[in-house]
Amino acid sequence: MQVFKFGGASVNSVDRVKNVADILKLYSNEKLLVVISAMGKTTNALEKVVDAFFDGKKDEALQLFQQVKQQHLNTAKYLLVKNALACEAQLNNFFTEAEWLLHDKPVKDYDYYYDQVVCIGELLSTSIVSHYLNEIGINNKWIDVRDVFRTDDNFRDASIDWEVTSKNVNGQIIKLFNDFDIVLTQGFIGSTDENESTTLGREGSDYSAAVFANLLNAEGQTIWKDVTSVMNADPKQFPDATGIHELNYNEVIEMAYYGAQVIHPKTIKPLQNKNIPLYVKCFLEPSLPGTVIHNKQLKNLPPIIVIKEKQAMIELSSRDFSFIEEKPIAELFHLFEKLKIKPNLTQNAAISMICVFDDRPDKIEKLALAASEFFDITVTKGLTLLTIRYYTTEVYNKLTEGKKMLLQQRTTTTVQALLR
Ligand code: ASP
Ligand code: MG
Repeated sequence: MQVFKFGGASVNSVDRVKNVADILKLYSNEKLLVVISAMGKTTNALEKVVDAFFDGKKDEALQLFQQVKQQHLNTAKYLLVKNALACEAQLNNFFTEAEWLLHDKPVKDYDYYYDQVVCIGELLSTSIVSHYLNEIGINNKWIDVRDVFRTDDNFRDASIDWEVTSKNVNGQIIKLFNDFDIVLTQGFIGSTDENESTTLGREGSDYSAAVFANLLNAEGQTIWKDVTSVMNADPKQFPDATGIHELNYNEVIEMAYYGAQVIHPKTIKPLQNKNIPLYVKCFLEPSLPGTVIHNKQLKNLPPIIVIKEKQAMIELSSRDFSFIEEKPIAELFHLFEKLKIKPNLTQNAAISMICVFDDRPDKIEKLALAASEFFDITVTKGLTLLTIRYYTTEVYNKLTEGKKMLLQQRTTTTVQALLR
C-alpha cells in the first residue's frame, strides 16, 4: 500500500488530470490511497468568496462563487461523457452546501465560514478526477474525508483527533481495498463531531496524506509536484541550484525551520514515527528518481541555501547599563508568544540583545512598543537573512560579497548572516 498526494498544479487543467491518470496506470499493481488537492488556485479563489461574504457583500460573494462553479463544470464537461450526469449531480450537491450558507448573513466567526466554504475546493476536484478515472477504467472509490478525519473545532488550523480518525480509517477505509485498488479522497479538510467542516491550515494536504500513511502503515508516501526533486536552493533565486536525491527526516525539519519552502515539518512527523519513506516526484516526468526522505544518516550533502527577505532587526538595550538577564528576557519571550511572532535569529550580549523577525509591520510595531517598557529599542528594516547548511567558505564568500553584514552566527554545520 502506498499513499500518493497530487497537488493543485497537477490537476489544474484537463490535460493535467489526464496526466494524473497516466501516472496511476504506472502503478496498476499497487493498492493506492490517493489524496488530491483543489484544482490550481481554487483555494485562493474560495478565500475571496469568504472575504466578500464576511464583508457583507453577498452578491459579490455569490458571483465569485459562480466563477468557481463554472470552472469546475467546464472541466467536468471536457473530461466526462458516460459519468457526466453523475458527476454534475455530485458537484451540485457541493455547490448547494456552500450557497446555502452564502445566502445567510455572517453571524459566526470568520474562520468558521472560511472552513465551510474553502473545503468545497477539494471536494469538487476529487469528485471530477474520481469520475474521470472510473470512466476510463481506473476503478476507484471516492470518499468524503470529512467522514473519516475527525478534528477539533479550531477552524482554519484544526487538530486531528487521532483516536477517532484511526478508528474510522480501520473501520471504513481498509475494507475498501478488498474491492478497489484505489481509494481517492481529499486532503486538508476534516470535520468536527458536530459535522462542521474544518481545515488543517494552508498546504495541509501533504499532512493529511502523511496521517493516512501512518494509520494505514503504508510502505511509502509520494508527493507529486512540478519540480524534479527537492533542491539545495530556490531555483528562482539560484538558477544553478541542484537537486538533492536523498535526505533524512531531521534534515528536512531543519531546512523548514530555517525557512526553506520544502515540506512542512508537520508532514514529516507521522511518517518519521513509523519510518515510512517520503518520495518527492515530478508529475511531468514520473520516470525521474526525485527525492527520497527517510531515516538514513547522510554524508556529503551539498550546501543548502535559504534566503529570507524582508527581515526586521530589533535591537534591545538595557537603559541603565545593567546586564540583560533572565527576567527581562523571560518577559520578552512571553511577548513573542502573546503576539504569535517567532524570531528567526537571536543574539545576546551583555547589555543588549538582537532579534530578527519576518517584517510583519503590525506585529513589529506592537512588539517594539511593548518591549520599550523594559528596553531602548532600535528597529532596522529591509534586511536579508542568509542561512547556509553545510557551508563552505567559497559559497559563503560568494553570497555575502559586497554586502553589509550586520550579524553572523556559525555552528559547525550552519552559518547565518544578516545582510543589507
Ligand atoms: N488546497 C489547499 C491549499 O492550497 C491545501 C493543499 O493543497 O495542500 O492550501
Ligand atoms: Mg497546494
